[in-house]
Amino acid sequence: MFLWRILRGCLPMRVRLQDKGVGCPDNCPHCENNFENEWHIFVEYYKAKQVWEGAGLWDIIEALINNVASLNDLIFTIFRSQPQKKVLEIVMMLWCLWKRRNKKIWEDKDSNNRTRWQPSPDEELKCNVEAAIF
Ligand SMILES: [Zn+2]
Repeated sequence: MFLWRILRGCLPMRVRLQDKGVGCPDNCPHCENNFENEWHIFVEYYKAKQVWEGAGLWDIIEALINNVASLNDLIFTIFRSQPQKKVLEIVMMLWCLWKRRNKKIWEDKDSNNRTRWQPSPDEELKCNVEAAIF
C-alpha cells in the first residue's frame, strides 16, 4: 500500500497538501530549507542519504539519481535493475524514511539513528507491518 501510494503520487507531502488547499507550510519539517516533496524526503535530504549509506544502499541510489527524472522513475529503474532482495531492502528504507518524516511532523521527534533497520539474513523473511485506525 505504501509503495502504491508513492507511485500514484498520493503520499500527503506538504507541497501536495497545499495544492489540495490544505493550509500547511510547504517546507521540509526536518531542514525547513526546501520544499517537502518525495524527491527531497527520500533522496535529496542529507539525512536520507545517511540512512541509505547506513543500510549499504546509497551506491545503488547514487548510481541512478542523475539518470532518472523522478522518484517513480528511480523506483522503476531499481525494480528493473536490482535483485529482489535489494528491491525489498530499498522499499523498506523508503518506508523507514516516511515513518521518520511522520514522527517529526506528528510527534516533533527526530530519529537519533540509534536503531537502524537491518535486512534479515538470506534464509529469513522480515515483515514490518503498519496499521492505522481512523
Ligand atoms: Zn529537508
